[in-house]
Amino acid sequence: MTATDRFAPVAAPDGVNPLRARAAVRDLYARPTITPGDLSAPLLVLPNDGPAASELPGAVAVGDIARTVRRWWSLGIHGVKLFAAGHDRDGQASGALLPGNRMLAGIEAVKAAEPGMAVTTEVCGCSWTDHGQCVLRRSDDGRIDLGATFELMGTMAVRHAEAGADVVSPTAMLDGSVRAVRVALNDGHRDVGVNPNVALHTVLYGPFKQLMGTNPVAGHRRGLQLEPGRADRDALVQARQWVTEGADSLTLQPVMTAMDVLVRLRADQQVPLVAYSTSGEWAALRQLGPAGVVEYHAALKRAGADVILSFAAEEVARRLEDGRG
Ligand SMILES: [Zn+2]
Repeated sequence: MTATDRFAPVAAPDGVNPLRARAAVRDLYARPTITPGDLSAPLLVLPNDGPAASELPGAVAVGDIARTVRRWWSLGIHGVKLFAAGHDRDGQASGALLPGNRMLAGIEAVKAAEPGMAVTTEVCGCSWTDHGQCVLRRSDDGRIDLGATFELMGTMAVRHAEAGADVVSPTAMLDGSVRAVRVALNDGHRDVGVNPNVALHTVLYGPFKQLMGTNPVAGHRRGLQLEPGRADRDALVQARQWVTEGADSLTLQPVMTAMDVLVRLRADQQVPLVAYSTSGEWAALRQLGPAGVVEYHAALKRAGADVILSFAAEEVARRLEDGRG
């Protein structure tokens, strides 16, 4: 053997790869894959007397919450994110602050059924305004009323915390809103986390918006959400700002069309990242079948998600329990 041969690439003459050929070695070098503990499930709180439940998993009436979360808990899913179908909607989102409203009833129902379940809540105006927008607007010129919107978000967060929420998730991407929520919580709820959104404009929110009535009556949210073509860069800027304002974790949505953004966020941020596989993704994922759905969620974990918030959480957990993940 010459000195040059010694450093030549090693050929595998028989195609055998030592990392993969023997089961014991495959197992030895295996890295952790997805477990039910990585999953969180959206819980869409609907009225008890409403229309038949949606086919979206987790869209349940208040009266079905206890049964649903006990089932999830028994499968190893230890987190839920609550969204409430609003009521008493008006221009000021007054219903959001009504004592005993559907969100507060939902939080209490989860905690009563499974006290250990980590509860995150959506803090946003769009389920509660009659115009379906996330923000409050001034009656004279129609511009965003920042002061009133921040006051609404801060007060909602405090009410959710009082009802038992562990983490609140300001959803409208308004600069300053995360700080407003953090400051509001600091008075008595310092231990409640703030998990704002990094949201791209996408069609993949469709089934959720239709069910929950959060489509703006007029216009759209492009002024608040990240433009998809720039999201690889803008998401990093937004995430850094949220952390500066007091966020202790972040949610990225959607993920099916933003896997690159997830990877970049992971490289740039040390806070926990929640990858939210949205309602429109669920419609597409169903075509993959259970094994494909598990594969997709495992890919999100590998891409950097600490938590995967997904309408398919129960399906994934069941498949893993069967040992066929
Ligand atoms: Zn909203």
